[in-house]
Amino acid sequence: MLAAERRAIPRPGEVGAPDVAVPDADMAVRTGEICTMSGMAANPWCPTRRREWVAADTEMLPCSWHHLTDDGLLTIWPAEYRQWAFDHELDRPVPEVRESAGVRDVRDVRHVRADSLRISNPPDGATYLIDPTLRREFQTLALRAVRSAPGLVEWIVDGRALGNIPSEQATTWPLVPGRHKFVARDADGRVAEATIVVR
Ligand SMILES: [Zn+2]
Repeated sequence: MLAAERRAIPRPGEVGAPDVAVPDADMAVRTGEICTMSGMAANPWCPTRRREWVAADTEMLPCSWHHLTDDGLLTIWPAEYRQWAFDHELDRPVPEVRESAGVRDVRDVRHVRADSLRISNPPDGATYLIDPTLRREFQTLALRAVRSAPGLVEWIVDGRALGNIPSEQATTWPLVPGRHKFVARDADGRVAEATIVVR
C-alpha cells in the first residue's frame, strides 16, 4: 500500500507537493475537518483534527466518540478499540478545568454496553486474493470477534474448531482457496458468522 501510495500521490513536503495531496482532477471533492481518531467530521471537542479531502457527495456524520462532560473530555470507544484504548491508558476522561461548579448527574457512558457478539474481521461476504508473488506464510487472515464484555470466543472454520481465543484478541488463519464459513461462539451461546471466498 505504501508503494502504491507513493506512486499515485506525491507526499506532503516533496518538491511540488501541496500540504495535503490533491486528488485526481476529475473527482468531485471538497475539504472537511475530520477527527483524526474517528475519521468522522470533527465536533467542537475532538482533541486532534485535520483537514482532509472527502468525496463531495459524502455526508459526514459528526464524531460520536468525543463528548464533553463535567469530568472533562470523554471518549466513547467502539467495542473493537476498547482493549487497545485500555492497554494505552486512553480510556480515562481527560480532566478539564471548568467554571461551572454545578453538580450534574453525569451518566458514565463508557459502561453502557449492549450484549452482543460479532465478527469484525473477516467482513461477511469478503473476497480475498492469494498473491502468487508473496510467500504463503505471510498470507494469513486475522480473525477478530468483538464481544460486549471480555470473554473467550470459540472459532470454528468450515466446521472445524480452531480453539478458544480471548475476545478482542486476534488469531490468524492461513488463506486457502475456496469458500469458507467462520463461526464465532461465546460462552453465553451467542453466535456470529461470516462467509468469505478466497481465490
Ligand atoms: Zn472526535
